Amino acid sequence: MNLDSPRDITAALRAAEIGPKKRWGQNFLVDGNVRRAIVALVQRRADERLWEVGPGLGALTELLLAAGPVTAFEIDWGLVDYLQTAFAGTPLSIVAGDAVQTLREEAIRTGAPDVAVGNLPYRSAAPILSALFELESPPRRIVATVQKEMADRLVAPVGNKQYSAFTVAASAVYRVQRPFDVRPGCFYPVPEVVSSVVVLDRRPDPVCADNRTLFREVKDALFAGRRKTVLNNLKGRTDLGVRDADHARALLGAAGIAPTDRAERVGVEAFGRLTEALAASRGGHA
Ligand code: SAM
Repeated sequence: MNLDSPRDITAALRAAEIGPKKRWGQNFLVDGNVRRAIVALVQRRADERLWEVGPGLGALTELLLAAGPVTAFEIDWGLVDYLQTAFAGTPLSIVAGDAVQTLREEAIRTGAPDVAVGNLPYRSAAPILSALFELESPPRRIVATVQKEMADRLVAPVGNKQYSAFTVAASAVYRVQRPFDVRPGCFYPVPEVVSSVVVLDRRPDPVCADNRTLFREVKDALFAGRRKTVLNNLKGRTDLGVRDADHARALLGAAGIAPTDRAERVGVEAFGRLTEALAASRGGHA
């Protein structure tokens, strides 16, 4: 099949009695130049393990397989069947199911990948990326195609309207770049949104690597009420070990955070210092 031909794709989907399904974000990449440009960003080294999330009909898979085995995570059983036939005899393994769960399960079973790639479904892109960030050993590089607005959030600087809990989760572990946008016309069916390709490279100095669960809880606590000050978000959190308002003020002081600030003005390193201060006051690591 010509993977750049909407006509071939429609015929293949019809023959397999499947999609394209909107709820699973099935907008297939049909521009060979864009497919090659995305795969060129992967820069997989010899012997590195590569996972692809949402292979669809194999637009990226076909090119990724040229550099070695691929493990692909696909939710749509119709596409799983199609891929098994179309890529028979190649080193492609398919994990069927919702990647938000199966990524974690596969990492426990076989170990985490070095590189993860995906033209991600719009609705599940955030939980899929979070599942990758939260792996015990997160991939050293992630190359993902996401909705432009999600890319805005991933690269937002502190104080920007788009700076969010998701920005902090990503930037604790990764340095994020956004090499190029992809026009809606490069997909079939044509989506209503512009997409961006983002490249996430694991930091050599991830924030709170030894206290990741508490870091997540602290970040979510501070963003819980976006309009509230960080002090007001933190002071009632006895569940996290914050005793009262004075304790919250002392923790924020130790982290160099002004109690009157909102979470969107707190940088990722300061979230890290706050987590460490809280862990120390609880008597050690979380
Ligand atoms: N990689 C293909 C391409 O570029 O043409 C397809 C990309 S399409 C935007 C998203 C793919 O992710 C679809 O194949 C869809 O079935 C799959 N998908 C959607 N939600 C998923 C989930 N939660 N877990 C695994 N795959 C999912």
